[in-house]
Amino acid sequence: EKVLVTGSNGFIALHVLDVLLSEKYHVIGTARSQDKADQVKESFKKLYPYAQLEVEIVPDITKSGAFNDVFKKYPDIQHVLHMASNFSFGHDQSTEEAYLIPATQGTKNILETSLALGKKVKRFVITSSFASIMDFDHEGDANFIHTEATWNPTTWEKAKNNELTAYIASKKLAEESAWTFMKEHENEVPFTLTTVCPPYVWGPQMFDSSVKRGVLNTSAELINQALKTTPAFEGPFDTPNGIGCDVRDVALLHVLPLRNEKLAGKRLFPVNGTGIKQHNYKNARFNMQRVLDVLNEKFPELKGKISKGGIEDNEKALAAGFYYNNDETCKLTGIEFKPLEVTIYDAAKQILDFGPSS
Ligand code: NDP
Repeated sequence: EKVLVTGSNGFIALHVLDVLLSEKYHVIGTARSQDKADQVKESFKKLYPYAQLEVEIVPDITKSGAFNDVFKKYPDIQHVLHMASNFSFGHDQSTEEAYLIPATQGTKNILETSLALGKKVKRFVITSSFASIMDFDHEGDANFIHTEATWNPTTWEKAKNNELTAYIASKKLAEESAWTFMKEHENEVPFTLTTVCPPYVWGPQMFDSSVKRGVLNTSAELINQALKTTPAFEGPFDTPNGIGCDVRDVALLHVLPLRNEKLAGKRLFPVNGTGIKQHNYKNARFNMQRVLDVLNEKFPELKGKISKGGIEDNEKALAAGFYYNNDETCKLTGIEFKPLEVTIYDAAKQILDFGPSS
């Protein structure tokens, strides 16, 4: 079965490719440049010498018809995983250009082309985000439980003046537009849609060599930052404040819908534990203090080298985060999502073993 994966060189996408190739799917990735495409191919050919893997260049996903050539070359693509979107900050462009247009126009283009040229497409999966679930008005509100059914009420007007809120809104608007597309074309679309809505994604990079870069992708970089603190670092320890999940779980959730029709039409929310209970660590709410706690507890060799943090009752501090429940995703998929400590540990271990200062 042929699967198209956009943004195939990304942090999460490389793990998705790993699951797909180990399951013997024939993968057609896209990347924005030849060197990125070559790197994806070379890395996986070492791991899976018999892998069926092509990576095509799509320089600009926002251009109308951007995916036409890919579908003309592979008219029998059966599944599409749309993962490409900008999750990095510090751009010179406007927030429209940096976030809104790639997210929404990219999604529109791939959906339209799949409908027009992808005659065999059966399943469509989009990497959305917890950004499209979270409701900032209810942050810290233990009576408001975020689930697969919750929608971020933000608007572009409210969000556009700040890079972070613009990114968050771009993900929500892109996902919303995809569900609208499915409704508007319900009589002609031959494929189903599933969206995956991960909160902050951590865990090891697919290839150890990636951590040599020093600076990692936006979410993974946070663990790097914690490892680079000094004992004198004075915080802030309460920010960023969010929910974390494991890249390996997120990858699996992208692939399960291809063979499980029960996941059609669903929003999947990968996260460990129940975030309902207020004062315990059995949830995936995090801040810098929680990351530092794991590092200090599990890596004795870091003693005296990194910060210990400064928050005494961190469970209480974390109670100001988002409350959530993903029972529906757990029931539908049967996955036991990894505890946040495991995810943080595995990410940090890889950086310590293979990073620039290893
Ligand atoms: P990466 O930055 O590692 O990967 C992003 C991918 O998207 C890369 O292939 C990148 O290509 C591509 N991309 C970025 N901007 C554009 C653009 N303007 N046009 C075309 N392609 C673009 O990030 P992640 O793996 O973390 O992100 C993958 C997906 O997961 C995104 O949709 C992101 O929104 C979503 N997500 C990520 C979370 C996280 O915590 N990491 C949480 C929730 C959702 P290039 O390498 O050329 O820049």
